[in-house]
Amino acid sequence: MNLQQLQERSHNQCELCDAKGGLSIYEVPPTAGNVSDREIYICEPCLTQVDKKAELTPAHWQQCLGTAMWNEAPAVQVVAWRMLNRFRQESWAADLLDMMYLDEEHMEWAKATGDHESDGSVDLHRDSNGHQLENGDSVVLIKSLDVKGSTVNASLGTVVKNIKLDPNDTAYVEGKIEGQSIMIKTIFVRKQGAQIIT
Ligand SMILES: [Zn+2]
Repeated sequence: MNLQQLQERSHNQCELCDAKGGLSIYEVPPTAGNVSDREIYICEPCLTQVDKKAELTPAHWQQCLGTAMWNEAPAVQVVAWRMLNRFRQESWAADLLDMMYLDEEHMEWAKATGDHESDGSVDLHRDSNGHQLENGDSVVLIKSLDVKGSTVNASLGTVVKNIKLDPNDTAYVEGKIEGQSIMIKTIFVRKQGAQIIT
């Protein structure tokens, strides 16, 4: 479905939680297969949590999934079912899952990613203190690093600005020291400006 069709279907509201702002298209994975309408139109907070880029906020989902699961669009039902499964240990979600019906084809789609078998915990880039790291953050090295095959001086206390998260591995960020890009282990950095919890 294209943007205009999605905007009409959703009435310009998040198809999961009815929010009206910051909507974008989410293509419900897996992308292979023969389902034709795999797009849904959802808000930023829903998107980041569906995508496991942010911690789940249970109150948000408890409020909206009971409605979203009855949406007419199979793609919305599939995402609602996956999100309910992340909360399946909680009685409200277990009750909704008992009530929900997906036909065989759509149940197969819903299960195809294996998402429903995970426990809802998210794997995020975190610094040595457990603070979430984001693209563009500045970090301080808490250990002198030996950068193989280079003369870069990555000593303790070096500030690395504008880091990039490794999209494939939450244990690494990329940053420039003395103009050279290097991969840095997140356990060796501290986010600048983060409050130290003692
Ligand atoms: Zn939403």
